[in-house]
Amino acid sequence: MSDCIFCKIANHEIPSTVVYEDELVIAFDDLNPQAPVHTLVVPKQHFENIVDGVPGAVLEAMTHAIAEVARIKGLDEGFRVIANTGAAAGQTVMHLHMHVLGGKDLGEGLV
Ligand code: 5GP
Ligand code: ZN
Repeated sequence: MSDCIFCKIANHEIPSTVVYEDELVIAFDDLNPQAPVHTLVVPKQHFENIVDGVPGAVLEAMTHAIAEVARIKGLDEGFRVIANTGAAAGQTVMHLHMHVLGGKDLGEGLV
């Protein structure tokens, strides 16, 4: 997807603060953080969202990356993972990503 901003970040065409990276996944800090820790876990391959036929290996790599982000950022007390799916859920970048939020007491929030 040549005009996709997260494809460009995954290809290092656009700079980002990379927290973790492997063959399948990149994790980088959100430009507009909603918590002291707000990192996005993004597959390098383009999928629109989590129900876009994502292979199990990619989901497994994303889970691994979430654990690495939590370890690297010291989120021992807990954290929240959010995957906005579709415009009505507030998805603004149509490339699958999981928000990892933490570093403060998040309360019960929406869920
Ligand atoms: P969504 O609303 O789609 O679930 O989340 C998209 C997220 O991507 C937002 O939290 C937004 O701040 C972040 N974002 C959008 N463009 C960029 C960018 O160019 N760099 C980084 N690091 N984050 C971005
Ligand atoms: Zn993309």
